[in-house]
Amino acid sequence: MPTPASSSDERLPGHVRHLIVGAGVHGLSTAYHLARDLKAHGEGDGSDVLVVDKTGVGAGASGIACGVVRNNYFQPAMAELMAACVDIWERHSEDLHYHGCGYVALGPPSQESDLVAVHERHQRIGYASELILGEDEVAAHMRGLFADWRAPGLTVCLHELQGGFAQNISAVRGLAAMARREGVNVAAGVEVTGFDTDAAGTVKRVLTDRGDIDVEQVVIAVGPWIKSLWQMLDLPQRLDVRQPDGSVARDRDMWTYWYLQEGEVGVDPRSFVTERGDLPPVLHVDSDQPLRDDDGRLVTDEPWGVYFKRDTDGVQGGASPIPKGSEYVIDPYPSASVDAGFADMWSAALSHCMGRFEGTRAQFLDVRSGGVGAFTADNFPVFDYLRDNVFVAADSNHGYKMIAVGREIACVLRGEHSSLLHPFRYERFATGDLHPVSHSPYPWS
Ligand SMILES: Cc1cc2nc3c(=O)[nH]c(=O)nc-3n(C[C@H](O)[C@H](O)[C@H](O)COP(=O)(O)OP(=O)(O)OC[C@H]3O[C@@H](n4cnc5c(N)ncnc54)[C@H](O)[C@@H]3O)c2cc1C
Repeated sequence: MPTPASSSDERLPGHVRHLIVGAGVHGLSTAYHLARDLKAHGEGDGSDVLVVDKTGVGAGASGIACGVVRNNYFQPAMAELMAACVDIWERHSEDLHYHGCGYVALGPPSQESDLVAVHERHQRIGYASELILGEDEVAAHMRGLFADWRAPGLTVCLHELQGGFAQNISAVRGLAAMARREGVNVAAGVEVTGFDTDAAGTVKRVLTDRGDIDVEQVVIAVGPWIKSLWQMLDLPQRLDVRQPDGSVARDRDMWTYWYLQEGEVGVDPRSFVTERGDLPPVLHVDSDQPLRDDDGRLVTDEPWGVYFKRDTDGVQGGASPIPKGSEYVIDPYPSASVDAGFADMWSAALSHCMGRFEGTRAQFLDVRSGGVGAFTADNFPVFDYLRDNVFVAADSNHGYKMIAVGREIACVLRGEHSSLLHPFRYERFATGDLHPVSHSPYPWS
């Protein structure tokens, strides 16, 4: 559960050099890295950085994310950024409750070319992964990991030997503790309600429900709430998007919402281990095979996809998200739950993959899970200055794993260039400098 708001009599400073809005993974990672960098360069310290959150640490998507950390990205810029992120997770695994158990993506023939390209890129950037091609070879690889593996029709397997998952809310609290150790103040129960700007559009003062704060720089890292902050900054809600072929997609929504369905089955977590008795890698299966439940009833004959991992109380994961359009009421978060058919589909998929999950539908847990994400006009992040002193970290729901974004933002705030963030600038919508799109059915692959 999110950390509750702190008492409302805590006094806020009237002025701060760097104000960060949002205590999720991006806001806290930025705060931690900025405090360290300021100190290292003799330019200040953590007391120059204030994080405010309308609820508390991990109250948004970061606190409920599945927590998967992977580098299965078809886009070169995403793959390079992800390698930097995995590096941070590995270096701070204890503070961040991170398990480097790896990640396995399995798919039908239609996904072979994408996963081959991803593997080639892994090799170029020095990210450890194995590629297995052919139905028999894939089945043999999976049976080496799990003797009861039984999913047919999968002809490609990309096994990331790095990556894995972190415990969502524990990791965010760990990150908050790291930032606080650097002297950062994290204030809960402070909602940003507006911005005062000068004639040039520079934000001079941030308005909150607990008083106004004069600022030098602002970082907006509000996850799915970005649309309302975007509005406060008078940024366009609709825009034309130039495509790489020069054509223009007119009048697109800048923000649309997708609901991510997730769930958990309450099996004994110790029953989900590899043949060697290790923590299993996170598994992601996309399949074109008919999906049946344990009684043989057809669940779907459309292509389907699921991901799952071992969790504290069982096995947890999700499936393809549901589009919710551009108008969506987020609060309270999460404000919806899974579709009626999700439990049937997801449990059937687990059983389709591994004999040990036969009959687990009955153990599907009715717990808080899933949540909404706000996606940009091209479904990739925007990491950029949107006013000359307002940096926006809007990850298009790619981002629990993207812990290095905050490190890069800290560099940019200090006047340095970030080649990792450069491909995610807002101007790409006007120039057509978009990211390549994969064959994956997910909006974030
Ligand atoms: C169900 C689900 C599963 C996911 N699984 C994964 C996964 O496995 N791996 C992965 O990499 N990504 C995953 N994601 C995506 C990932 O969780 C998000 O992209 C990421 O956590 C966003 O982080 P953030 O810091 O931008 O925002 P958030 O974590 O949402 O934090 C934003 C904070 O801003 C605060 N806030 C909002 N408005 C205001 C305001 N006006 N004033 C002050 N504070 C404000 C909120 O209270 C909140 O705490 C998942 C997302 C969902 C919904």
